[in-house]
Amino acid sequence: MSETALSFTPEAILNRLRGDGLRITPGRRVILEVLFEAGKPLSLEEIKDLAAARGSRPDYATVFRLMTLLERLHLAHKVNLQRSCSYYELHDPKKHYDHIVCTSCGKVVVIDIPCPLGATEAHIAEHYGFGDLTHSLEFFGRCPECAKAA
Ligand SMILES: [Zn+2]
Ligand SMILES: [Zn+2]
Repeated sequence: MSETALSFTPEAILNRLRGDGLRITPGRRVILEVLFEAGKPLSLEEIKDLAAARGSRPDYATVFRLMTLLERLHLAHKVNLQRSCSYYELHDPKKHYDHIVCTSCGKVVVIDIPCPLGATEAHIAEHYGFGDLTHSLEFFGRCPECAKAA
């Protein structure tokens, strides 16, 4: 199955991982479910805690290894939230991921209005002769709730 034909479901990703020689344990399945339901970037610690809330107890190394593999297969990516630990989110090749991050409470919102950089990206690609350009864009500010509380 080619990468573009991959439908982005937990089952499809598990099949892909199986194809890569990974044994699919119940723990790994739970981690994927957690990532799918989050809909926002999660730290390894958060992934571990959310999996624990579902009765699975993956250790840190298990979560880290799975996220590293997902990243290598371009099924997940790291998001820069200007914090000391890494945040990961699943990467649906058909979707685009830019974020707004609240600097007070840490809330992360995936921006789903059309990307403001589409034309700029094409311009940069042309000007510098780069192909297959991608970008990651994070805005930082204060969310409506925190603004109200301030
Ligand atoms: Zn906030
Ligand atoms: Zn963008």
